[in-house]
Parts: sequence; C-alpha cells; structure tokens
Amino acid sequence: MNSAEIKQADKDLIWHPFTPLVNPFGHIPIKSAKRARLFTHGGKTIIDAVSSWWVNIHGHANEHIANAIHKQALELEHVIFAGFTHEPAVRLAKNLMTILPANYSKVFFSDNGSTSIEVALKMAFQYWYNQGQEHKTKIISLDGAYHGDTFGSMSVSERSGFTRPFFPFLFDIDTLEFPTEENFEKVFAHFDELTKDNACAAFIFEPLVQGAGGMRMYTPEMLQKLIALAQSRGIICIADEVMTGWGRTGTNFACDQIAADPDITCISKGITGGALPLGITACNKKIESAFQSEEISKALLHGHSYTGNPMICAAANASFELFEAQECKDNIMRIHNKHKAFVEQLKSFDHIENIRLTGTIVAFDLKGFGETGYDSEARKKIYPYFLERGVLIRPLGNVIYLLPPYVITDEELELVYETLIEFLNEN
Ligand SMILES: *Cc1c(COP(=O)(O)O)cnc(C)c1O
Repeated sequence: MNSAEIKQADKDLIWHPFTPLVNPFGHIPIKSAKRARLFTHGGKTIIDAVSSWWVNIHGHANEHIANAIHKQALELEHVIFAGFTHEPAVRLAKNLMTILPANYSKVFFSDNGSTSIEVALKMAFQYWYNQGQEHKTKIISLDGAYHGDTFGSMSVSERSGFTRPFFPFLFDIDTLEFPTEENFEKVFAHFDELTKDNACAAFIFEPLVQGAGGMRMYTPEMLQKLIALAQSRGIICIADEVMTGWGRTGTNFACDQIAADPDITCISKGITGGALPLGITACNKKIESAFQSEEISKALLHGHSYTGNPMICAAANASFELFEAQECKDNIMRIHNKHKAFVEQLKSFDHIENIRLTGTIVAFDLKGFGETGYDSEARKKIYPYFLERGVLIRPLGNVIYLLPPYVITDEELELVYETLIEFLNEN
C-alpha cells in the first residue's frame, strides 16, 4: 500500500494522541524504519531525532530484538501472570537487579510509564496503610513534573493545560518549586517545611531531567540533598526514571549519579529498546517488607491482563544485552561529546537561551517565540520546518531538544545539527 492507497477517510477513523481532531499537519504514514531512520510511503527519509517519544535506544527494526520476539512468540506468547511465571520474566528481573541499587529486592510488571507510576503510588500508600499509618497520604512532587496520563500519574504531575478538564478529579498534592542554583536554599527550606508534619507518604521526582516539562535540568547535588532529607524522615522516595533510564543521562539510571538511592524506581520507555510497551516498578527491601504477609488484604491488589507478557520480556532481555555491550556505552559517550561541541556552536546565537546538556539530551529555549505552551507559535513553525527537511524534532513549546537513538551515526547527527543551525540563522 502506498500513501495514496491509505484513504484520508480511513486514516480519519483513528483518534491520535495529543493531537486536535482538526489538525492541519495530518499524520504521515510510515512504511518501515531502520536504525535512526523512518521511511514514509511516499519514499521520504526522516531522521528520528527524538527516539519516537524517547523510547528507542538501539534503533528501529533492530534484528536482535525482533528475533527474540519472534522466537518467544512461537514458544510461549502469553500466560496469566498470577499463579504462573516464566523464564523470560525471571531473566528480566535478574537482569534489572544487576543495574538497580543493591538494596532492591522486587520488580512489579505493568504496561507503560504511566502504569509504573500508578503502581509506585499504590505501593507507597499501601506501605503506610499496611502498617496502620493511613494518615500518611501526602505526596510531594516537583513543579513542572510530568508523570503520565492516567489519573494517579496526572494527579502527581503539574496542573497544566493538558489536565485542566480533569482538575476536579485529581487528588491534591504539595508542589515543590523546581530547584535551581539561584533558588535552592529557599526550595530546600520549603521542602523541610513540607516534610515536617508526619503526613507525607512519598516524594516523587524525575531525576536530573524533567522531560515533558521542557527538558529542565537540575544537579545531582540538589537531588541528593532532597532525597537525604526525605529519607531521614522516613518518606518514600520515588524516582520516575521512565525517560531518564537506560543511559539517557549518561549513567544507567539518572539516580546512579547521586549517593542516595530512591526507595522505588519506575522504568519504562527504553526498556524494550522501543519495540514493545512495558512498565516496571522496582522497590527496595524496606518497601517489600510492608507487604510480606499471607493476608490478601496486605497484598498489592493490582495487575493487568498482559502483565509480564513473555514476548515483551524477551524484547527487554534482548535490549538489555545490547545495552550492556561496550558498543552501546561508547555510543552514549560519542553522542554526549558531539552534543558538547554542538553546545559551543549554539552559544553564538543570542536569540536562544538556557542551552543545556545531560548525557545524550541537548536542549535550549527559543527567545521571542511568544508563549511557551505546548501549542505555541514556535511549535507550529518548527515542527513542519524540520519535517520538510527530513528531521523529526518535536519542540516542547519554545524548547527545542534532541534525544536521539544511540545508534544514530555521526553523519546523521551532523545533518540534524546543520538543519538546526540553518533554522536559527533563518529565524
Ligand atoms: C513518558 C513518561 C511517562 C509516561 O509514560 P507512558 O509510557 O507514556 O505512559 C512518565 N514519566 C515520565 C518521566 C515520562 O517521560
């Protein structure tokens, strides 16, 4: 089928995510993809500079992952995950334990980043409930946070245009200002205040980089101080590593850059290399201990039909093998160093600001592009500009960022940089 054969009326049956139903851009039919490149039905090549919403780390249509899925599908495609288990899930749990903090002891499976957050929140609330401390219900989250699109994850995210229709249905949280070098003392004092009253169940955060909030970055030192204070008061620390995991910030997990370990870690996006959806909520012995009981009332009563799907676990295990290989570590370092040189180039433009870099993520803000919302003028102009030139970049308001698959070549990266420089010269 070429794109002419996919009729508009047929395409219109689909309600696409984060997109108004009346949408001037339409949706480009993609026929196939390889490594960092997408191929349209019309014969165009597009470089995927955002890893298809941050999920793809080893490139598209990766053969090692595809073969693992194929093999698993013929062996055991799925089995109910209560009362049964299987080798791919056990292997994945063991693999994850080799890169999670040493005091971690359990992984819980779900389907995506949002559900990994739901599970983390339920674990945290029930941790206190199981110990007769039902009064601990307060959650503290960071200003600008994005933790997903289900109700619990929306509740602990920033209140924004994205969630406005649902405000009446979201539970209350306390919000801590986003920490910066300038405000940290005040933020820390506020955190001290918020955590004093013995009602706080958990502190949830995107470590080092807030993704959807605009690739906002803060230092390991600040995060470490916040976690240390929270943990000194017994507050459960939940690291949302959904975007920052899998080498994205330069280390396996962003929290590997601090001395303190969170109590719960949420993992998704890169876990299957971008091939299939999977969410993991991992926790330490302390959390686990509150659930060690034969009573059903103390069990975590949560699950999904496809929990622990063997094909998805097989994809994750194959992705893990690629992730552990030296080639992957080298690629992460290579991209970081290329970004570093690009940052120097960016400094000559005075209509951009806050140029920032963590691991394989480089970002900056455009000045003078009106409001900074998701639907800003910047977005309407930038997104098509790059697509026409064969580069997929999806700005977050006036924030332009690159977050490429690790297999992107130097030539492809340079093409992306050149297109960005061209845009900045013209605008
Ligand atoms: C994408 C994302 C989520 C939600 O994950 P989904 O798989 O889209 O539900 C949660 N937290 C962070 C930090 C994310 O980037």
